[in-house]
Amino acid sequence: MLIYDISYDDLKKFMVDNNQKPFRAEQVWQFVYKKKVDSFQDMSNLPSDLIELLENAFSFKALDLVVKHQSQDGTLKCLYGLHDGHLIETVLMKHHYGNSVCVTTQVGCNIGCSFCASGILKKKRDLTAGEIIAQIVQTEKLLGERINYIVVMGIGEPFDNYKNLMQFLQTVNHPKGLAIGARHITVSTSGLVPKIKEFAHMGLQVNLAISLHAPDNDTRSRLMKINDRFHVEEVVEAIKYYLAETKRRVTIEYILIDNVNDTLEHAQRLAVLLRGMNVYVNLIPYNSVLEVDYKRSTIESQMQFYDHLKKNKIQVTLRKEQGHDINAACGQLRSQHL
Ligand code: SAH
Ligand code: SF4
Repeated sequence: MLIYDISYDDLKKFMVDNNQKPFRAEQVWQFVYKKKVDSFQDMSNLPSDLIELLENAFSFKALDLVVKHQSQDGTLKCLYGLHDGHLIETVLMKHHYGNSVCVTTQVGCNIGCSFCASGILKKKRDLTAGEIIAQIVQTEKLLGERINYIVVMGIGEPFDNYKNLMQFLQTVNHPKGLAIGARHITVSTSGLVPKIKEFAHMGLQVNLAISLHAPDNDTRSRLMKINDRFHVEEVVEAIKYYLAETKRRVTIEYILIDNVNDTLEHAQRLAVLLRGMNVYVNLIPYNSVLEVDYKRSTIESQMQFYDHLKKNKIQVTLRKEQGHDINAACGQLRSQHL
């Protein structure tokens, strides 16, 4: 088991079960998440029998850096190999307000969106909580600066790996763990309705983003196979439930694809659909994917869409590109190396 895979409470229990003092758990987490050491041997003030015990039970080695690409705007894209040879991506973005990391949650994805490089390959397996945490720890070491924000928007559908996602969130947010504030963490989902409702009760103030991408079932089903299971109306109803339960604002992600979901009529329908809801729409110009025919919306269509939402008092931003020159869209670097 990876050392990043065990929760604080379970580590305490592990200590007790092995005739160690429970406070050793706190010391070990100090080394793992504050000092960020690479081995148990580096845990300088621990007794040698405890180091041996830990070495026999846990490992540190989670990810091998296979390739890294740096783009001109400072975005760093890392391709990591897992212990069983699978490849995943982690993207680091530098903003004026801090550094954020975009993490992968699954090897591939089963949701099968027609525009997405990650979905072209079926899911091979879920990542463990520790493998998601390790992406942050390792990328932080690579950068040599602290990571302040986490976006769960890499390869995979986080709500299809719910249990591990929850443990990941607990550990990165834990004051004795990475201590990244819940408000600095965003989870993006393709809209698994029951999980959106469950997430409303998870008890952490983590931000939720929903990949809507279309205001009607015809368009959405064309883009996202999952829409046949959870229709637009059900997704919107789940968002309303989440808003009522948490009193938090939800982000609606909407990629703009030329002539598919970016017409004035789409914008009009979206404005009606979201009227009165405490949401903000993040418009993302589509990044072309080698294997797919879709094209990015023209600047005129992007502006027309943005202006219509704005005029109708929907909070909206049009995303400024990051890492376009190194294929920033999720899964693209990985698909080039398979
Ligand atoms: N599976 C989750 C999270 C990972 S995808 C989800 O779908 O929400 C994160 C975001 O990247 C989603 O909004 C997704 O639609 C978007 N995305 C995927 N491929 C893209 C591409 N080629 N260009 C722009 N955005 C893309
Ligand atoms: Fe999976 Fe998200 Fe890509 Fe859809 S957009 S295939 S849900 S990773």
